[in-house]
Amino acid sequence: MDPQTSEAPAEPGSMQRLLLLQELDLSVDRLTSRLNELEAGGELRDARARLAETEARVGELRLALDSIGREQRRLETDIDSIERKAEAERQRLFDGSVANPKELQAIESEVRNLVGRKSHAEDLLIEQMERAEELDGRRGPLEAEEAEARQRLAEIEEGSARELVEIEQALAERRSEREQLTPQIPPDILELYQDIRRQKKGVGAAALVDGVCQACHQQLSPMYLDRLKRTEGVRRCEYCRRILVLT
Ligand SMILES: [Zn+2]
Repeated sequence: MDPQTSEAPAEPGSMQRLLLLQELDLSVDRLTSRLNELEAGGELRDARARLAETEARVGELRLALDSIGREQRRLETDIDSIERKAEAERQRLFDGSVANPKELQAIESEVRNLVGRKSHAEDLLIEQMERAEELDGRRGPLEAEEAEARQRLAEIEEGSARELVEIEQALAERRSEREQLTPQIPPDILELYQDIRRQKKGVGAAALVDGVCQACHQQLSPMYLDRLKRTEGVRRCEYCRRILVLT
């Protein structure tokens, strides 16, 4: 076999495969980082914390409303009993059972006192009713928030489990594709690519399109481009030093 014809097309071919490998490796990197995220369970932890927080707020609101309800009933009972006492005292004023003017004066003063206490209790009751109305208005939105947090948690639990399976499957596929691809790339190029990849955020090789390196997006100088075209070996970017693949 003529080495010229068998080797010449092999070189551009293996460089194209290097670009394929780069795509696969970036995809493996993305999947692995997502897998780590899922396994760390940050989203689940956040969703659980959010549910616990809304549950606590709804719980506090219900307790506050219960306590206001009790206070309202206590005030209503008070008002009733004051009213009854005042009525009884008024009766004594007018039924002729008391004739002593001093005693009548004392009764009148007691009635005024009772009327004052009743009016104060009524004011307190109105305050409690207003407070209850305000809290009751917050209850609906807060309970909706709680329901939403509960649903979100369920979705995340279900989604994470499904996504984990999908990612593990995709990772196995990419890794097997990678295993088939790497023997078709010369070991020295592979080693250089992996070295650069470690140093340069996972990107070791990039296409050169219209004189622009697709990794660092710099336009190579005409002089450097000219030199690249005449290079027999591995071509590197003038700026980021990554391996360049002519497309
Ligand atoms: Zn570059």
